[in-house]
Amino acid sequence: ALDPSTLMRDALLAMSRRTEVRDAMVNLPVTSRVVSRYVPGETFDDAARDCAGLLSQGRLATVDHLGEDITDLAQATGTKEAYLRYIRDMGEAGLTEGGQVEFSLKLSALGQFLGADGEKVALENAREIARAAANAGTTITLDMEDHTTTDSTLGILRELREDFPDTGAVLQAYLRRTQGDCRDLATAGSRVRLCKGAYKEPESVAFTDDHEVDLNYVECAKILMHGDGYPMMATHDPNMIDIAGFLADQVGRSTDSWEFQMLYGIRPQEEERLISEGYRVRVYLPNGPDWYGYFMRRLAERPANVAFFARSLLSR
Ligand code: FAD
Repeated sequence: ALDPSTLMRDALLAMSRRTEVRDAMVNLPVTSRVVSRYVPGETFDDAARDCAGLLSQGRLATVDHLGEDITDLAQATGTKEAYLRYIRDMGEAGLTEGGQVEFSLKLSALGQFLGADGEKVALENAREIARAAANAGTTITLDMEDHTTTDSTLGILRELREDFPDTGAVLQAYLRRTQGDCRDLATAGSRVRLCKGAYKEPESVAFTDDHEVDLNYVECAKILMHGDGYPMMATHDPNMIDIAGFLADQVGRSTDSWEFQMLYGIRPQEEERLISEGYRVRVYLPNGPDWYGYFMRRLAERPANVAFFARSLLSR
């Protein structure tokens, strides 16, 4: 039988790539109110203000400039310029020192799939951002997109890490390959964010059953926690959070040798609880006008969000 929440999720993920739906949605006045739960700001000043706020509450931050599926080189350059601007502004404000604020990049937004030279273009753009980040005392993390991009992204990661060894990677527990990737990357100096995965993937490459994804998350977490790298446990799931804490204790990791990460706006009280228990918690802060794809993936993660959004539209 077809499961309604799976149908809903698939429909939302399909809509997340449709520009005509995006154009209709972004023009609804109510949209901004609902979107701001997940995307609190659009301008550079908003990003600096939001990061300063997070740091003042004992949180760390990683900033994501929203934008994906770009179609020309000028847009890729625009994405790079946006990151350089964040780094300059936040560096001057003292927010990047000691990696308190770092930056999450999508290689697709830096040109990865623009023609035959796309990977080279994305690598050079990412390298420039990584250099600016290093000069400002911080680092970058390469977000992971759908499975067709994994090998290319890990290849670019390897090249970047030759000059900037603390460049972070993201691995997705829903992919069947990920335990192997965890083993490859669980080495000294290597920062790895482990998440469940947010894209629609075929069964040939991904676990589609939630329970299987959770089991694989735990196996991957074990590999990373037992390894020599710096694990970044990106999840809002109470079971995964407990297990990460348990594993860290079991292997005797100090609280500064790994961290929790959560997306802005999803579980702020849980962030506070973890901080009060002495854990490091980094919040992923999306910023920018092009919030549509990101927002639709967040809706797809939780059917209740759709009802919330629909009610807001009707009560307009
Ligand atoms: P779930 O089982 O999905 O959720 C557990 C609980 O969290 C839910 O019951 C609910 O209470 C709460 N929750 C989860 N999502 C929502 C929501 N949208 N709204 C309200 N409540 C919610 N994915 C990628 O594919 N590539 C990336 O590069 C990437 N980077 C990420 C970076 C960070 C810091 C984080 C936290 C996630 C990232 N993700 C990325 C997304 C991730 O893959 C999952 O889609 C997302 O985190 C939901 O999985 P979960 O572990 O929270 O567990």
